[in-house]
Amino acid sequence: MHFKTLAIHAGQAPEQNYGAVMTPIYQTSTFAFQDVNQPGPFDYSRSGNPTRKALEDCLAALEGGTHGFALATGMAAVATVLELFKQGDHLIIHDDLYGGTYRYLVSISSEHGVTFDFVNLRDMDALRAAIKPNTKGIWTETPTNPLMNLLDLAAIAGVAREHGCISICDNTFSSPYFQKPLSLGIDIVMHSMTKYINGHSDVVAGALIVKDADLAEQLQFYQKTMGTCLGPFDSYLVLRGIKTLGVRMEEHHRNALALAVWLENHPRIERVLHPGLASHPQHDLAQRQMSGYGGTFSFRVKGGQEGAFALLRNVQVFTLAVSLGGVESLMEQPWSMTHTSMPEEVRAAIGITQDLIRVSVGLEHIDDLIADMEQALGQVNP
Ligand SMILES: *Cc1c(COP(=O)(O)O)cnc(C)c1O
Repeated sequence: MHFKTLAIHAGQAPEQNYGAVMTPIYQTSTFAFQDVNQPGPFDYSRSGNPTRKALEDCLAALEGGTHGFALATGMAAVATVLELFKQGDHLIIHDDLYGGTYRYLVSISSEHGVTFDFVNLRDMDALRAAIKPNTKGIWTETPTNPLMNLLDLAAIAGVAREHGCISICDNTFSSPYFQKPLSLGIDIVMHSMTKYINGHSDVVAGALIVKDADLAEQLQFYQKTMGTCLGPFDSYLVLRGIKTLGVRMEEHHRNALALAVWLENHPRIERVLHPGLASHPQHDLAQRQMSGYGGTFSFRVKGGQEGAFALLRNVQVFTLAVSLGGVESLMEQPWSMTHTSMPEEVRAAIGITQDLIRVSVGLEHIDDLIADMEQALGQVNP
């Protein structure tokens, strides 16, 4: 079945007692046993809950996997995956990634004796050179936050397989509607469902999807044992949001691309970083690997910090806020807002500088978004 059909129906058959068409919120911690030593299909909500199960089955279907896991936040998903790696294991991490994942690795994984190298995974020779006998995992994120660089997932998954490493892809920016890492050979897909999958900026949640039974068993064990699962009410909200994922992504794609093209021609803009533009250095890979683009991209304003602040202070339809993927448009400066956990010299080295602005283009009318950007850029000193 097609994506839009699965989003509405996968894992979500009408409920059996009363025929409720929408999945009920099973707001219960525990379930009655059928007899001594004989639990029903669920026994305790940390191990499993019917509302969460509906969401997990839907996620598996949308990513083309066999098992999905719904976690309390995107970071809970990161933490749950990283439990697969033990003292003495080595990981290769793409050098441009979500700040929270970076912070988890350097402040928590490292304390547990896991070692890692940050490597530019756009360079396949650098990836091969970084592999050690104890390398167990390769972490990718594409497009990257906030620089919109792309990684060739099929090529990286191939190298991972050759060396017996688990490959992981943070697919938050594209959502499964535009990019399916499992079909390219990646072993584990991770999402912050806080972003596009839920899409309404009213939940924090995370997801993991796999198509390998052993990995599924391990992740289920960690989800249950660490207690990182998503609650029933939030699972219900994400299920409600996910039904319109395809429709929303198409509109995010159209709005963001139109705004990116408009910005590229504006005299106060230095550069626009959007994989759908011919000017993006990896535009070919974008067309091969993704079937469209989300609503998030970045651009550089002329005038450095001063230019960036003038723009951020003067927008009216865009809200000055972190996060992305909701129906409303947001704007932020990664340097001072989302990427402060990266040391200044690391930020500067990879290009997260003061002139960089990240936008999450929502579903407002594109003419209003462009008009807002135009009036705010008019207040940036030439
Ligand atoms: C937001 C985000 C996360 C973290 O997710 P939370 O839901 O905030 O915990 C991880 N990766 C990416 C790419 C993100 O944008």
